Formats: sequence, structure tokens, C-alpha cells
Amino acid sequence: MPDLAVHVCAGLLGSKFLRDPAGRALFVAGNCLPDLASKTMDLGFVSPPAFSEATHTPFGILCLAYAAAMLFEEGWRQRAFLLLAAGSLLHLLMDAAKDCLGCGVISWGFPLSLHRWEFGLYPVEGSPWILLPGALAAVLLVEGLGALRRRGSG
Ligand SMILES: [Zn+2]
Repeated sequence: MPDLAVHVCAGLLGSKFLRDPAGRALFVAGNCLPDLASKTMDLGFVSPPAFSEATHTPFGILCLAYAAAMLFEEGWRQRAFLLLAAGSLLHLLMDAAKDCLGCGVISWGFPLSLHRWEFGLYPVEGSPWILLPGALAAVLLVEGLGALRRRGSG
């Protein structure tokens, strides 16, 4: 749960460049999509963990974004696909920043390669509890500054 909250915060910050609220919501949803899909597969379908690893690959997020975009009406599908895929890509980059003691996190070449890579920037153990306060503070700061700027210009 804290990991998902960190991804929501990252999605909110990463979607600041989008003007429309629907686009921002899709980007944030895309940032949560890989974890929602893997948790659903792990817990809901009780599949082996290796089976859900595809949800954390570029190929996997393209498939997930495509499937999720099909839930939208035709005029919105392409935009929904791009925003969901972009949000999911940010998710993969965040997860790849973890340090899993050299085991790797993301199979960037799946299905052609199962070799996993990591950037090793922060430890996995307890990382959401470390990152969550910082992510919440960053969202409050950015959104607060945006609200002050809108109030000043309006
Ligand atoms: Zn993840």
C-alpha cells in the first residue's frame, strides 16, 4: 500500500505537464497499472510470481495499456493508451531505481531476454516508508505553489 501511494504521488508530479484533469488521471492510473496488474495476478489468480513479472516490462506495459485503453470509447483510445503507457513507463523507471542486491528488477528486453536490470539507487527494504513522506511533501509543495500562483494571477 505505501508503495502504491508513492506511485500515486509520482504520477501526480509526473503529470504536472498535462493541463486536463482526465489526462492527469490517466497518467496517474498508468503509474499504478503495473503493480495493480501484478498484485491481481499474484493474489487474485494465485499465479507463480514469475508469471506476473511480465507486468513490469516494457512489452508488458504496452499490452496492459492497450487492454486498458480498449475500455475507453474510440475517440479516447489512442490518448488513453499513450497516457497509460507513459505513466507505466515512469513506474518501471522508479522500480528500476531500487537496489535488489544486484538481482535486477526490470526485464527491459522481455520477451527476448529475461535479464533484469536495476539502477540500485535506494534499498528495497522499507523504501516506501522512506520515500512516502518525501513524495507526499513534494506533492503538497508543488500543488500548493500551483494553487498560490493561480490565486495570485486570478
Ligand atoms: Zn512495481
